[in-house]
Amino acid sequence: MSTFLNPAYVFGPVRSRRLGVSLGVNLNPADGKRCSFDCIYCENGRNAERRTASPFPRASDIRLALEQKLAQMAEEGEEPDSITLAGNGEPTLNPEFPQVVDDVLELRERMCPQARVAVLSNGTRAHVREVRDALLRLDDNIQKLDAADPHLVELIDQPAAGYDLERTIEGLSSFGGKVIVQTLFLRGELPEGRFDNSREPYLGLWVDALRRISPRSVMVYTLARDVPTQGLQKLAPVELDAICARVRGLGMECSVSY
Ligand code: SF4
Repeated sequence: MSTFLNPAYVFGPVRSRRLGVSLGVNLNPADGKRCSFDCIYCENGRNAERRTASPFPRASDIRLALEQKLAQMAEEGEEPDSITLAGNGEPTLNPEFPQVVDDVLELRERMCPQARVAVLSNGTRAHVREVRDALLRLDDNIQKLDAADPHLVELIDQPAAGYDLERTIEGLSSFGGKVIVQTLFLRGELPEGRFDNSREPYLGLWVDALRRISPRSVMVYTLARDVPTQGLQKLAPVELDAICARVRGLGMECSVSY
């Protein structure tokens, strides 16, 4: 199945139902993927087939590319509704992540003050102080939590050695509610066996984790595009709606993408 890499520091804009006119900022190399997860559904492809020896882009180069793109959009009478730090892996792995955050926030203030700035992260560096502080400066700190059972995370997200689910949940809890939890629900059959993160006991463990994290809101979604693994199935809208209803029952906001 086909997957893709983002070829530049800045990509888009794309029109998204949820984010409006959205610009992406890629903090990873353009010719490969760098991620602390290796999710079976990753649209960037699996880590082994996307290896790169290229260095991380420098904060100064990302800043220049974003400034030029925003200037070009302004000339064309367009402004982004959102700028999202994401693309080709985990953005917080870039050693200059805090500097990129500050640069993007400064450009937003100067060039498109109505735009929101978001990150799509997998939470694996949320416990690192300078990363955590930078994440807290963003408008929308969106963190992935696909399951709260270590074996299921191992199966779906395939984290790098040393991953600690409890430390991640603790890190997300430490945001004091300034976090949006994003969860992809899916089921499938792999050589390791059948799995379904929308069924008990896994759903209950995930709900318990949400209670601990107490996020500002929750986003649930399912497979939408090509994925690199055979045997995966998306959930039906009615199933996602039922999960959302359960989250709302906790008194939390929940949005769903089908
Ligand atoms: S965390 Fe995101 S970029 Fe990393 S493997 Fe998973 S889906 Fe891909």
